Amino acid sequence: MKISELFAKKVPTLSFEVFPPKTSDTYESVKTAAEHIAALKPDFMSVTYGAGGGTSRYTLNIASDIETRYGVPTLAHLTCVSSSRNTVRDRIKNMIDRGIKNVMALRGDIPESMANDDRTNWHYNHAVDLIRELKESDGDFCIGGACYPEVHPESVNQKEDIKHLKEKIDAGCEFLTTQMFFENNLFYNFMYKIREAGITVPIVAGIMPITNAKQVERAIKLSGSHMPQRFKALVDHFGTNPAAMKQAGIAYSTDQIIDLLANGINAVHVYSMNKPDVAAAIQNNISEIIPKKK
Ligand code: FAD
Repeated sequence: MKISELFAKKVPTLSFEVFPPKTSDTYESVKTAAEHIAALKPDFMSVTYGAGGGTSRYTLNIASDIETRYGVPTLAHLTCVSSSRNTVRDRIKNMIDRGIKNVMALRGDIPESMANDDRTNWHYNHAVDLIRELKESDGDFCIGGACYPEVHPESVNQKEDIKHLKEKIDAGCEFLTTQMFFENNLFYNFMYKIREAGITVPIVAGIMPITNAKQVERAIKLSGSHMPQRFKALVDHFGTNPAAMKQAGIAYSTDQIIDLLANGINAVHVYSMNKPDVAAAIQNNISEIIPKKK
């Protein structure tokens, strides 16, 4: 099923994310975690793409496993910046062969080894180039893209960032998923700005449950997201007690999600980090708001 068809129903959706293993020895444990999350019957699941693409086949294996065995629509991520045109075309062909219908088209982070390159030699400079490639391919994909309520770290300002976001939509991107955020007001502000800029596609709010203190530093480094004082207090107070921190982190995310749904945001994506227990806890916490599917 195309994810655009889900959004067209205009009912609230809850989706989860898994990331593929980096090496073959952890493949089975990641696959099992993904299957446990799929058994929760979320509206869809996304499967990320290892930076640089070294583990691309795991993304497709896990995505098609979830879809065929659990009937949960999947969104396979694909990045382009460090790949040649031929490699990307091969990966798109693999997606078509595996029956993948939904693709998250991303640029990917620029690897350090490419930082001083002459970028005019790159086959893909931005996600929009990949979106165009997907649209020109034989696949009839529903294409998603990434967006940044707190501005992409490389952008000169939010106006420029939103201008390029609009280019992705004009090229055929049908929905956008946000970078994680911990302060809903920043997201609402972003929504006003993109709607004003003529971006009308569904926006999926990305929520990351922080369940241990170590994750905080990593999450900030990866996303550059603002950590509100209210959240910092949880980490300061419960960070040394793993069980308490986990409970507090899940409660914080649940609170964010309920506020989003109460304010008319229909699509929530949980960065569930291959943790079925965290995904299940959040799903249970809002089970009267978004009933679990049979
Ligand atoms: P782009 O849309 O290309 O934007 C990158 C920067 O370039 C922005 O500053 C933008 O304003 C600017 N820009 C865009 N177009 C133009 C243009 N035409 N001219 C000039 N400037 C332009 N990474 C992975 O490796 N694997 C994943 O699976 C993955 N999944 C992600 C999922 C989500 C929801 C998000 C938010 C991020 C994900 N990432 C993933 C990280 C992502 O690859 C990085 O954030 C990357 O730095 C930017 O990717 P993008 O697709 O947003 O790039």
